[in-house]
Amino acid sequence: MRGEEPVVIEAFKVGALPEGSYDHLLEFLRLYRDALQMIVDRVWSINDKLSKKKLHKLFYNNLVSMGFRAHHAKEIYMYAKSLVDSAKSNGGRKPVLRKLSARVDRYDYKLDLDNMTLTLKLHNGCEARLKLVSSKERVEKFKGWGNYELVVKYDGSGFWVSIYFKRIVKVVKPRTAMSIDLNFDNITIAVFNFNGKLLKLKRFKTPHRKILTHRIWVERIQKRYPRSWRFIKSVKKAIDRHGERIRSISWDYAHKVGDLVAELALKHHSVIVLEDLEKLRENGKKGKRFNKRLGLWFYRRTQFCVEYEAKERNLKVVKINPRGTSSKCPRCGKKLAEYEHRVLRCRKCNFIGDRDAIAVINLYKKFISKYPRCGVPGVAPNAPKPNENPSGMQGKRDDAMKNTPTYINLYKS
Ligand SMILES: [Zn+2]
Repeated sequence: MRGEEPVVIEAFKVGALPEGSYDHLLEFLRLYRDALQMIVDRVWSINDKLSKKKLHKLFYNNLVSMGFRAHHAKEIYMYAKSLVDSAKSNGGRKPVLRKLSARVDRYDYKLDLDNMTLTLKLHNGCEARLKLVSSKERVEKFKGWGNYELVVKYDGSGFWVSIYFKRIVKVVKPRTAMSIDLNFDNITIAVFNFNGKLLKLKRFKTPHRKILTHRIWVERIQKRYPRSWRFIKSVKKAIDRHGERIRSISWDYAHKVGDLVAELALKHHSVIVLEDLEKLRENGKKGKRFNKRLGLWFYRRTQFCVEYEAKERNLKVVKINPRGTSSKCPRCGKKLAEYEHRVLRCRKCNFIGDRDAIAVINLYKKFISKYPRCGVPGVAPNAPKPNENPSGMQGKRDDAMKNTPTYINLYKS
């Protein structure tokens, strides 16, 4: 649960139209490139390690005398050094710069997102004003973020700007865990507190049957025209139509579910616990829960949207190997046997439960044993692991089981 980067960096790439003449801007970009090349050449021939201080001493005055501002100079020699370092470490040749592109420090530009203008400070005290060409919606996201550096480019026909935005992410501190089970007919969502008490259980129907119908249609058509279907216009059109339906149904659904699930998780301050579908493939056992004809692709898409929406809300997402989660008894760990349709029973301890509910309980339990610290609030990060201190953890796990029967009974009746 630790080791997450608290900073998110995103580049906002946008076309830029100079207001008025852009002679100065082009001149700046050429000067910048030539200066960068000059420093690259010099750094290349020096075999010593160059500290920032040394670089400054060697090149700063020279660059400033060419008309660059203080921060331009710094960007140029630091960039030159990083180019040389990466070329040398790859065993490559000395970099030759052709493109017109400049990195500009945040002190050398002014950005106005409301008016979509960018003012660049150039060499010899010149300035260039550019209008950013983008929709309001794309920009809205970055308001309130910190911007720190940009790259301005000329590609022969126009100017492009990549502005780097930075945001400190305050990850929501989880108070509950939400485990999610995907299968062919539905998605089951369970929210537990860290003492194992079930707070919420919800199911969503999946459109997988509908998708499968389209899939079967496609297969039928393809079977009727083996080899040739690609070349018969009307046949190909029919197949494309089904493909289009499949795509739109699955995306619509994945977006809707992703949004619903993430909203619910936010409400409960949950860490989201998903099955690691990659591991599922390794286990080689997906037949029962997932339809083979459909493939894992649809489940991955849903997970992708859940994960994306969760991250947008600063929620943690954890993936757990689903091995055994849908076949083992959550109480004693024995293999479960079929009891009724979709209901499983443990022959050893008589536990009876709905297949999907069992999966979400097991997923939660696996999560808690993998990340015990989440379940023990207030414990120092380097507290003993649960097996080193069984008494403390065991209590929590017993609680988890005490609470499950009441809820399983809901499913039995
Ligand atoms: Zn059992």
